Amino acid sequence: MEFVVDSMLGKLARHLRIFGFDTIYSADLDDDQILRLAREGRAIVTRDRRLAERAWARGLKAFLTRSTDLEQELRELVNARLVKKGELKIGARCSLCNSELLERRDRTWVCPKCGQRYWIGGHWANISKLMMRVGLLDEHQ
Ligand SMILES: [Zn+2]
Repeated sequence: MEFVVDSMLGKLARHLRIFGFDTIYSADLDDDQILRLAREGRAIVTRDRRLAERAWARGLKAFLTRSTDLEQELRELVNARLVKKGELKIGARCSLCNSELLERRDRTWVCPKCGQRYWIGGHWANISKLMMRVGLLDEHQ
């Protein structure tokens, strides 16, 4: 699944990228641009009912959330089967710019586009806990 996320859901967009999903997000995208991206096969995730209705009327995939809470938004996407455990590729994408990361020999990852570096650190435990709470990771893993 590939996503285009509306400008109100930046935190969700970053987490979809952390989970490995190709996710377009920009505060500059207008509704017409978002609909165009959906026509190319992306699922829209939005808090804007009018945008969702425009998408549905065109037969496009759109998910409307009413939540303002990251964990709840993720849980809704899991329940709607838009985010599936088997499709996760943790650490495959830059959470800032959506590029695919390169793995280095010292077990760090670097973004070839924006230069951001990643490693398995303290934040990783928080991401794992969040994934467990929304049903994307089993307790014993
Ligand atoms: Zn990047």
